[in-house]
Amino acid sequence: MPNDYHTHTFRCHHAEGDVGDYAAVAVQKGLRVLGVTDHTPFPVPLPNERWNMIRMSRSQLDGYEEAIAKARKNYPQLTILKGMECEYSVDLVPFYRDELLAKRQFDYLIVGNHFFPCGNRWVGAHSQIRSGEELMAYADHMVEAMASGLFAFVAHPDLFGNSYPFWDEHTVRCSKRIIEAAAYYKIPLELNAHGLRKPLIETKVGARPPYPLSPFWQLASTVKGITVVANSDAHHPEDVGKTEAVEELIEDYGLQRADLSWLEQKENKSLSAKV
Ligand SMILES: [Zn+2]
Ligand SMILES: [Zn+2]
Repeated sequence: MPNDYHTHTFRCHHAEGDVGDYAAVAVQKGLRVLGVTDHTPFPVPLPNERWNMIRMSRSQLDGYEEAIAKARKNYPQLTILKGMECEYSVDLVPFYRDELLAKRQFDYLIVGNHFFPCGNRWVGAHSQIRSGEELMAYADHMVEAMASGLFAFVAHPDLFGNSYPFWDEHTVRCSKRIIEAAAYYKIPLELNAHGLRKPLIETKVGARPPYPLSPFWQLASTVKGITVVANSDAHHPEDVGKTEAVEELIEDYGLQRADLSWLEQKENKSLSAKV
């Protein structure tokens, strides 16, 4: 049974359930590792173009950690990792590094860029990418996030498929930039099953899931050194561990799985530190 390193809780305002509900399903399905990675709060609310309403507030951090500690106690047979899905921005690095990783001893952070700067504005990767220029700005921002060395893997690197309906020279350039940087920085890329649970997008060449994008992963399979991880990105407890469809993509394209076992040692370390 696969592990699941990407799940949410009610705190982000668009998911249901708390850590204990996700852990119960993980145990029931025979998972060994459950990574909890709700959407990061910001140290101070940012201008609304970066959507404060899809994330917990900073004051909810303690409750989030308590919910993880409680689930660890109630489900000792399961390794529960304390993580966070982060938006990259250079001004947020001190918060991620000094507060989440150092002070609060988070086991890992993942980068899920839902917003990126283009010129003098922030663009939403979910719904606002319309041009080659924006696609390259998305890729550049992702590469900067990888270079920071803060993140265990890149969540849904092909999220741009949710808003840009074509596969053309711009998506190829954007994808190559991300994939080559992932190989260079040796950071795994995630095949995200949440995209397969969303409605299909109509394109000129037929309907397709918003992401994962098959041509992206086909390209990834041609670059040496790329490793991948399959996650549910569950926003409802019943979706924990639902990664079968993306596992198939991994098989189809002969992609190499990342070894994330170093994360489990982190949980053990942070547990013993508390005793
Ligand atoms: Zn995400
Ligand atoms: Zn997520």
